[in-house]
Amino acid sequence: MTTTVRTRVAIVGAGPAGLLLAQLLRNAGIESVVIDSRSREDIEQTIRAGILEEGTVQALLAAGVDTHAHQVGMRHDGIELRFDGAGHRIDFADLVGRGVWLYPQHLVLQDLLGTLLPAGQDIRFELTAQRVEDVDGEQPRVVAVNAEGTEVEIVAEVVVGADGSHSIVRKAMSGSRAGLYREYPFAWFGILCEAPPSADELIYSNSPNGFALISQRSDTVQRMYFQCDPDVDPDAYTQEQLWEILQSRVPGTTLKEGPIFQRDVLQFRSFVARELRRGRVALVGDAAHTVPPTGAKGMNLAIADVLLLNDALRVLLLEDDIRPLEGYEQAALHRIWKAQNFSWWMTSMLHQVPGTSEFDAMRQLGELRSVTESRAGRTYLAEAYTGWPHPPLV
Ligand SMILES: Cc1cc2nc3c(=O)[nH]c(=O)nc-3n(C[C@H](O)[C@H](O)[C@H](O)COP(=O)(O)OP(=O)(O)OC[C@H]3O[C@@H](n4cnc5c(N)ncnc54)[C@H](O)[C@@H]3O)c2cc1C
Repeated sequence: MTTTVRTRVAIVGAGPAGLLLAQLLRNAGIESVVIDSRSREDIEQTIRAGILEEGTVQALLAAGVDTHAHQVGMRHDGIELRFDGAGHRIDFADLVGRGVWLYPQHLVLQDLLGTLLPAGQDIRFELTAQRVEDVDGEQPRVVAVNAEGTEVEIVAEVVVGADGSHSIVRKAMSGSRAGLYREYPFAWFGILCEAPPSADELIYSNSPNGFALISQRSDTVQRMYFQCDPDVDPDAYTQEQLWEILQSRVPGTTLKEGPIFQRDVLQFRSFVARELRRGRVALVGDAAHTVPPTGAKGMNLAIADVLLLNDALRVLLLEDDIRPLEGYEQAALHRIWKAQNFSWWMTSMLHQVPGTSEFDAMRQLGELRSVTESRAGRTYLAEAYTGWPHPPLV
């Protein structure tokens, strides 16, 4: 038996993108239903992004999300680029007058759910979208299945795919004509450890042994990554070996070690969907694009999409004018391709491509010196990393 639910906007995915969109629509009095295949507990434990642009925090606050980013998060006014055994600070505050916030994604999700659920937002957990029907019609439908195997059909005026990189909604829109992408011949080995911070700010290190990122979580927990083979088994290394590898990737600095309690291998690629909208179905966030994590852009870009789509949906659903929705793709792609370029550039400048020539390794050092020794170079990096300004919230 199929249960039918009717709403104005059906949002597939309760990640940062889907939940913020629900909040913005609520603010405008537009009803929506959000579904997610995971439980609330699982969502609230998502270990992923850590860096929020100031514009992202401002967008959450302006939307009325009860976020603690400014209280609990750590403000970072710069990062260190480390190469050739020395560190070079990129001083964001001096260069662009902005900083970023170290505030993990699971806290953003807890803030969003903690704002939406008490307000009565309809969020259905453990409900998995199987397909979208009538994509080109006036009333597209999401067909989903719950944990008991019961089918639920959500009929809406608009369907939004906020369902991450393996998006079902994107498949329904574009089939196998998925999008444009670029693969990389390496992945990131990520660890969480109990230790004090090894540095005050993030260290992005290019070393002859490969890339490493030394990042912080709190006074007692740290997140670190190193470049690895995409096929590596996360359990292949002992704790001692992991520390040895990490330390060898940041010559000239001494890491503070402690017990490693989580490890994972993160595959990454650059991807942009061919269509971000078809009829009354639209994509936001990782469903529309993915970026390598080196530029810390993924969640920030997801929020930027949502701000644009929210404006377009308000005009459609409150004024019956579809034109802004028709312009959504072009508007969103402007920022998406800038972020794609920045994420690719940081990745290519900092990682060692297996089998690279000595010429390319030396050229890479030349590129890093060109950036760090020039105010213009440092300013571009600071501008992109801290995020381009958003248009004001409607
Ligand atoms: C290691 C790592 C570090 C990162 N660091 C940063 C950073 O510092 N800064 C930054 O901005 N970004 C970063 N990112 C990227 C960021 O995590 C993502 O871009 C962000 O989560 C995208 O949000 P989203 O809402 O679009 O998608 P997601 O967070 O992927 O959410 C999608 C949701 O949809 C649900 N879903 C999927 N399929 C279905 C279905 N069929 N039915 C129902 N529900 C479904 C999923 O369960 C999920 O909850 C990082 C990513 C990784 C992996």
